[in-house]
Amino acid sequence: MEKCGNKSLLKRILNSVADMFFPPRCVFCGEVILNGYICENCTDKYIPHIIVREKEGYRIITVADYDDFISPVVYSAKRNRDGRAIDFMATEIGKAALLHGEYDLTIPVPMYKGDKSKRGYNQTEKLCQTIREEYGIPCYDFLIKTRKTAQQKTLGKKGREENLKGSYALKKNTSLKGKSILIVDDVSTTGTTFKEIYKIIKNEGAKSITCIAFAHPTHKD
Ligand SMILES: [Zn+2]
Repeated sequence: MEKCGNKSLLKRILNSVADMFFPPRCVFCGEVILNGYICENCTDKYIPHIIVREKEGYRIITVADYDDFISPVVYSAKRNRDGRAIDFMATEIGKAALLHGEYDLTIPVPMYKGDKSKRGYNQTEKLCQTIREEYGIPCYDFLIKTRKTAQQKTLGKKGREENLKGSYALKKNTSLKGKSILIVDDVSTTGTTFKEIYKIIKNEGAKSITCIAFAHPTHKD
């Protein structure tokens, strides 16, 4: 029951054809580069800040501070489904996650289906697909979002919890027993989404539950 799509070979072929005509560009400043995701100048500016928070029963890892330098990359991942921003973020997420454990599978944080069809894709699924391609960790879309919710960024901490309460569910026939699970999101601000998802999966017998997001606004701590 692997449902995160499988376009790796096609994607690789398309990417190398595209590279011949359109050389890769730095995900931060757009400068043409030979390979990788970041130009030399931006490599000096991009400083990952991996934070691991131990919670009761699970933990949250964030990879980088959500500041003015990082935010355009996160925005681009939301707006450009095949973009290099997604591949860059996924590579960084995978690297940070593997520093702190091993995983049997990833599960993307789901979007409500109406929101997903409006955007055309869910960037967290794309992140998980790239993690699978880069690191060989299978991806399962076991979680669903059952209703539309208000944008979290418009709410305070209490409001965020109320907003998401009961809005996630596990699909039927999902088996997490004995598995080390990695839940993947693009941004985590207060950790409310991960907390709500943990409530849904905590009694499913998983061996370990790790939640990871690429960016975290540290000023909201
Ligand atoms: Zn650059």
